[in-house]
Amino acid sequence: MDFRDTPAEAEYRRALADWLRTFVANHDAAPSSREWQHALYEAGYIAQTWPEEQGGKALSPVYDVILNEEVARAGAQAIPPNVNYLCRAILEFGTEQQRDRFLLPTLRGDIQWCQGFSEPGAGSDLAALTTSGRWNGDAWIVNGQKLWTSGASDADWCLLLARSEPDAPKHQGISAFLIDMTSPGVSVRPIMTADGEADTCETFWDDVVVPADCLLGSQGDGWPIAMWALQLERGPADLGVVPNLLNSLEDLERIVTSSGLDRHERIRRTLSRAYIDVQILHLYSIRQVSLRAADRAEGPSGPAAKLLWARAAQAVGHAWLDALGGLAVTGAESDRAVREYFHSRPTSIYGGSAQIQRNLLAQRVLGMPRADARR
Ligand SMILES: Cc1cc2nc3c(=O)[nH]c(=O)nc-3n(C[C@H](O)[C@H](O)[C@H](O)COP(=O)(O)OP(=O)(O)OC[C@H]3O[C@@H](n4cnc5c(N)ncnc54)[C@H](O)[C@@H]3O)c2cc1C
Repeated sequence: MDFRDTPAEAEYRRALADWLRTFVANHDAAPSSREWQHALYEAGYIAQTWPEEQGGKALSPVYDVILNEEVARAGAQAIPPNVNYLCRAILEFGTEQQRDRFLLPTLRGDIQWCQGFSEPGAGSDLAALTTSGRWNGDAWIVNGQKLWTSGASDADWCLLLARSEPDAPKHQGISAFLIDMTSPGVSVRPIMTADGEADTCETFWDDVVVPADCLLGSQGDGWPIAMWALQLERGPADLGVVPNLLNSLEDLERIVTSSGLDRHERIRRTLSRAYIDVQILHLYSIRQVSLRAADRAEGPSGPAAKLLWARAAQAVGHAWLDALGGLAVTGAESDRAVREYFHSRPTSIYGGSAQIQRNLLAQRVLGMPRADARR
């Protein structure tokens, strides 16, 4: 398998890197997420792999990977998850009217989305969700609580899963709704996480009225829609993960070298281990994209890539604390070191925990029985 860019991809990468360099140089302050997405859209870099009739250029998935890589390499903020997977669910499952209503404004950065799947009692076992969506003859009425709804405080709309048929088997009674976050009855409470960010939130849904035309897919289609979206969420190649980790490691290496800490073999080994984990992730994820570009099944690579991603991210986070030692807590770089460490910890939880990924590999690759099947 040849992982190098084709001449056309290399040319595209060069033009994009030039555009990013100029953009970053001309902006003193980082743009807001909306402004950033708008700028990328205007420059023609958003949704290039989408079908032409939906505003895309029908390019190979490799181009999205190049975009995410170069954005991360330039130190710019990541492409919002709207475009990476939530918006694609509307492209894949939405009615023509929903596509017309949501896709272009989302691509332009005018609409931001959040994902309302997890609940206090439903994370790994997502199908145990209890938020209800009942049809009252005129509209859907949604009641319940979601947890870890990332980006909810800035989001305009939420792709939310709710139980629409309480008596159906648990995976079949779920529907997916597109909900306006300004609807009466929606409240959002940010959660401060250990890395000092308050990006993820608790969200409460009290008698929220959802019009009939905001059901995504058909009633009861929520599970396949969620599984389809989650499979995109897990792809490290689609999120610029490797260049972000390399940026972090290169910064750490500069600090270690300039402070003379590189004379310690243990510290050099910690950094090398983290570089190796990132390179393994890199090779695995470009293999994944090559298979996708060749329209070949990616097989069990989703769970394996998520495990390698968490391992690499946590090796980098750990290297910040381990290499800097006491300086990580008391020195000039202490805020950064502690943030990098804590920021890396939930990678083995969000998008499906490490244990769940191992269960999937055990069942799908090794053919082992499910634990509940033995009871
Ligand atoms: C920073 C962050 C952002 C997130 N963003 C979003 C978001 O935007 N939208 C959203 O909907 N969700 C989001 N999530 C939620 C995330 O998907 C869940 O946290 C995750 O699926 C785990 O679910 P849980 O927290 O309920 O843990 P639980 O499912 O309660 O699991 C607890 C522990 O038990 C283990 N475990 C559970 N079941 C099994 C099993 N069958 N076999 C072996 N081990 C098992 C788990 O691996 C874990 O270690 C986010 C989470 C975090 C931390």
